Amino acid sequence: MTNDTTADATTSVPWRPAPAWRNWGHSQTARPRGVARPASEDELRAVLGSARDAGLGVKPVGAGHSFTGIAVAPGVQLDLGGLSGLRAVDTAAAQVTLGAGTHLFEIPGLLAPYGLAMPNLGDIDRQTLAGAVSTGTHGTGAGFGGIATQIVRVRLLTADGRLLTVSADENPRYWGAVQVGLGALGVLTEITLQCVPQFALHAVEAPSPLAQVLDEWDERCAVADHFEFYWFPGTEIASTKTNTRLPGDVPLSPVPRLSGWVDDELLANGLYGAICAVGARARGVVPVANRLASRLMARREYTDLSHRVFATSRTVRFREMEFAVPREAVPSVVRELDAMIRARDLRVSFPVEVRAAAADDLWLSTASGRETGYVAIHRYFREDFRPYFTAAQDIFRAHGGRPHWGKLHFLGADDLAELYPRFGDFVRVRDELDPDRLFANPYLTQVLGA
Ligand SMILES: Cc1cc2nc3c(=O)[nH]c(=O)nc-3n(C[C@H](O)[C@H](O)[C@H](O)COP(=O)(O)OP(=O)(O)OC[C@H]3O[C@@H](n4cnc5c(N)ncnc54)[C@H](O)[C@@H]3O)c2cc1C
Repeated sequence: MTNDTTADATTSVPWRPAPAWRNWGHSQTARPRGVARPASEDELRAVLGSARDAGLGVKPVGAGHSFTGIAVAPGVQLDLGGLSGLRAVDTAAAQVTLGAGTHLFEIPGLLAPYGLAMPNLGDIDRQTLAGAVSTGTHGTGAGFGGIATQIVRVRLLTADGRLLTVSADENPRYWGAVQVGLGALGVLTEITLQCVPQFALHAVEAPSPLAQVLDEWDERCAVADHFEFYWFPGTEIASTKTNTRLPGDVPLSPVPRLSGWVDDELLANGLYGAICAVGARARGVVPVANRLASRLMARREYTDLSHRVFATSRTVRFREMEFAVPREAVPSVVRELDAMIRARDLRVSFPVEVRAAAADDLWLSTASGRETGYVAIHRYFREDFRPYFTAAQDIFRAHGGRPHWGKLHFLGADDLAELYPRFGDFVRVRDELDPDRLFANPYLTQVLGA
């Protein structure tokens, strides 16, 4: 073991004083005892050892885009920016190995020289790869799983300093647990992804009556490669987005730069942010703004490389709750949300977002073992999310909903044990790999137990 990580010569510990930390949604804060930025697995091992000796916990933080306290570091905060970038490419198998701290937005550029792409993405690309997979981050597409389903192998540094390669063939007893590991099992240092040949997406964005979209939900998911819709509470119109996969060498017709900037930055982020800020103080503005927003939804079509279509820019801060429900339950869930919002006269300036994913077999994936629909609700970050989210959680729960690990919810370990058939197996792996809870924090205690 090398011990060249002393960042602070006066204290001889491999971490520096840490500034106060706050997540993207301003829903979590932390005052870590120190922050370490290891540049190698050996340096990382030294940090874990020193933290253990000092009786401090360790928590890697990605881009801080989780709304829950999953990334809150009470002890030593790990910045894995030094463990990022492309490590290896197996062109024959279309597999790439990346440092765990690589940001999703960096990956298309790293894969482009090899003509490869990630098969599916969520709706932003600011997260780190390790952070995204650790919470089960997903996009949409009834035939596609979340980002963690793209993993074929990881390297995991455990609490006792062992570096494990885990895949379906190596250390297979940990395989079902590590892909969506909640940061509870160790520190991921490298992640190998199964990629696909670079591809383009033809996107059609179109307004459609909400009632019709709900009636056609199963069919729209079945025929489209990637279908999703947004709906502003209090309105009857949904904004649908249907993406069709095309070969990577088709002629591209991206959204023209100026109109894209007007639609996506000025209207969708700038003007929208101003409306949300006014709506937070004057509730009466919200229904008017929502009706206006749903009328402004224009039809547009474009074709671009996949990552440019999947990911959008989000600059208006919000808090989010998202539950995974059996796919066929989505229309009932959305209708019940609509009724609840009307009955309580909630003025919600953010849309409900609805997506789909294929069933997978990762133990704590929200799509584990069932074809899944995702229903996400949002609240402007300066507004109290609790009344809305509490009432919505009751609806999601009544349909067997599983909360996104990185998005706000009020469930505990006992509730979650009933929702995941392999929950007990995951807890056993955690007990084995982190018996002294080096990687624990209050959120993990809430969702996994002490
Ligand atoms: C604007 C916005 C849009 C979003 N869109 C989507 C979406 O489309 N789909 C979706 O599913 N989610 C979405 N999310 C949620 C987001 O993808 C997840 O919360 C994701 O975990 C954030 O990644 P991060 O890099 O910020 O990780 P963080 O939030 O910083 O950390 C998440 C977890 O990963 C752990 N972790 C980080 N690095 C490592 C490592 N090397 N080893 C082990 N554990 C590690 C952390 O300890 C923590 O437990 C969105 C969030 C925001 C704010």
